[in-house]
Amino acid sequence: MSYEKLRHLMVEDQLRARGIKDQRVLAVMESVPRHLFVDEHLHCRAYDDCALSIGEGQTISQPYMVAVMTELLELKGDEKVLEIGTGSGYQSAILSMLASEVFTVERIQTLAERARRLLQEQNCTNVHLIVSDGTIGLPEHSPYDCIIVTAAAPHIPQQYIEQLKVGGMLVIPVGSRFTQILYKITRTPSGISSSESTPCIFVPLIGKDGWGSEEAY
Ligand code: SAM
Repeated sequence: MSYEKLRHLMVEDQLRARGIKDQRVLAVMESVPRHLFVDEHLHCRAYDDCALSIGEGQTISQPYMVAVMTELLELKGDEKVLEIGTGSGYQSAILSMLASEVFTVERIQTLAERARRLLQEQNCTNVHLIVSDGTIGLPEHSPYDCIIVTAAAPHIPQQYIEQLKVGGMLVIPVGSRFTQILYKITRTPSGISSSESTPCIFVPLIGKDGWGSEEAY
């Protein structure tokens, strides 16, 4: 079966059938070649309903989780977005087609270099990739319309809230090392409002205001 056909089935069976409704998210996930963001021996599994290894003990997230998190951001096209946890670069590529500017932060140099190359090959010229500890956010380019964290945090770092515009949204998995809840948090003029989305399992957010590397594994 062609990758186009596999992508179409992924969108219909894993996303639309499970309630993803944002037409822009569905269209972009039908167009971005997810298989190119994993190693060649995993190309045939790239459209499976699961996360896959990308090396360094890290993963490219399950397509459904990418769609849920992206849909929660309610992107219209003119937003400045901060992503913490570049990983393969797949989520960054999706965001680059739905927002105006994307800053993405990865702590592992080798993953960042590979993602940078892949994003260039996909012509994602509005993505800026920074190697750094994303638990402190990226204050120099704040404030953001949206922040998406694709690793599991033990708590919500206060600096993420501070780096959001009023009305801006943060989507973040928070919980224990092995199970979390996906939260959507909106910065309001007087503080925050928060809602729970879905249970989830992410690799740990490691850093100054996340998990310590020795307690993470
Ligand atoms: N969004 C990614 C994709 O589309 O492939 C999936 C990301 S993977 C589930 C989580 C990533 O977060 C890993 O690459 C990991 O190295 C990174 N990470 C963990 N802690 C981080 C931190 N403090 N700053 C930046 N990246 C971090």
